[in-house]
Amino acid sequence: MEKYGLSTEIVHAERRQQIENGAVHKAIYTSSQYAYRDANDLVAVFQGQPGFSYARQGTPTTASLEKVINQLEAGAGTCTFATGMAALSAVFFTLLKAGDHLISSQFIFGNTNSLLISLARLGVEVTHVDGRDVAQVRAAIRPNTRMVFMETIANPGTQLVDLAAIGDLCEEHKLLYLIDNTMTTPYLLKGREVKAGLVVNSLSKMICGHANALGGAVTSTGLFDWSEYDNIYDDYKKDDPRAWGLLQVRKKGLRDMGATLSADAAHRIAVGAETFELRMQKSCANALALAHFLEQHPGVVSVSYPGLASHPQHARAKVLFGDKGYGTLLAFELAEGIDCIDFLNRLDIVLLATHLGDTRTLSLPVAKTIYHEMGPQKRKAMGIADGLLRVSVGIENESDLIGDFAQALDYYS
Ligand SMILES: *Cc1c(COP(=O)(O)O)cnc(C)c1O
Repeated sequence: MEKYGLSTEIVHAERRQQIENGAVHKAIYTSSQYAYRDANDLVAVFQGQPGFSYARQGTPTTASLEKVINQLEAGAGTCTFATGMAALSAVFFTLLKAGDHLISSQFIFGNTNSLLISLARLGVEVTHVDGRDVAQVRAAIRPNTRMVFMETIANPGTQLVDLAAIGDLCEEHKLLYLIDNTMTTPYLLKGREVKAGLVVNSLSKMICGHANALGGAVTSTGLFDWSEYDNIYDDYKKDDPRAWGLLQVRKKGLRDMGATLSADAAHRIAVGAETFELRMQKSCANALALAHFLEQHPGVVSVSYPGLASHPQHARAKVLFGDKGYGTLLAFELAEGIDCIDFLNRLDIVLLATHLGDTRTLSLPVAKTIYHEMGPQKRKAMGIADGLLRVSVGIENESDLIGDFAQALDYYS
């Protein structure tokens, strides 16, 4: 589809949209309002012409980033938000209503799980399924099912649902298929390749990549025909029915949630995105090497990483991602007798922090931190062992990274 490779396209994307004084970056537009000399032009913007009015609905800086993200996903249109959670909220709250049924993967980000609990309290029926088996998704379909929601590589367990088969199922039943592509990113997988209608990416993670800005995006693949979708307001039933859904997410999502991406954050994310492909290549390679190292170490009892032959969905990962890599997230359990807190404290270059997709390698004890609020019973049901460690692999030199884990493990041998 694109003329050049991913990195070539992205590093030249902003500059090629519209050169303003020869700047290679889009300017950071701080104006919160946009004025017009001719009132007709103001009216035209309010009535759907491209342009800007009030910055909650977007700025030239966010519009520029939207083109970049859209290019990454090979999408039909993209709308940015202040965070990944804001992007997800905008999709759920603008496209679902009380009485609708949502099928969701059971392997989802903890905060998204919290969001779905809020949605259920407002009257949306939510069914959680094990998406590794498409039959479970099929069995959950009801007459009022409106949307099927899946994440790609699950955090922290790295389960990989049957994304392509679920895409076929949604196509067959004309259901909206929403994918959260944050953990795979459009480097490993584009939503359209598995027939998703909408794709959410948290831009705070690998796409920005330097832990210096928050952002989120909703991309329409253009594959879904919204003319048969129940919840589109008449105002947004304009022109091509394949564009209605994103128009509603943009108009109502930005207006009602008000979680607009700031121009400053949009600029930082756009700069980060220039090296997105390079960082993904390096982090995926580091993650695979670290997974192999940990798997053979006597101080480690198990490693979850889709790139290992021992991973239950390794074959699926190969088909979905080709030879590009297997993601930047892994999880492992230490042998009995090694205290995970004591182990973490022995690491030198690994940061003890939450967050994912940074240039720096990060690790945390899952049960005591991000899944603490959930309680022991639910953790057990989700397969989260007390000593499970999550690692978000960065771009450090491979030997330094493995050396750091090796020296910490060697203390116990
Ligand atoms: C981090 C994350 C989010 C939320 O993104 P924020 O930008 O932190 O709000 C959503 N989904 C997944 C899979 C994530 O990892």
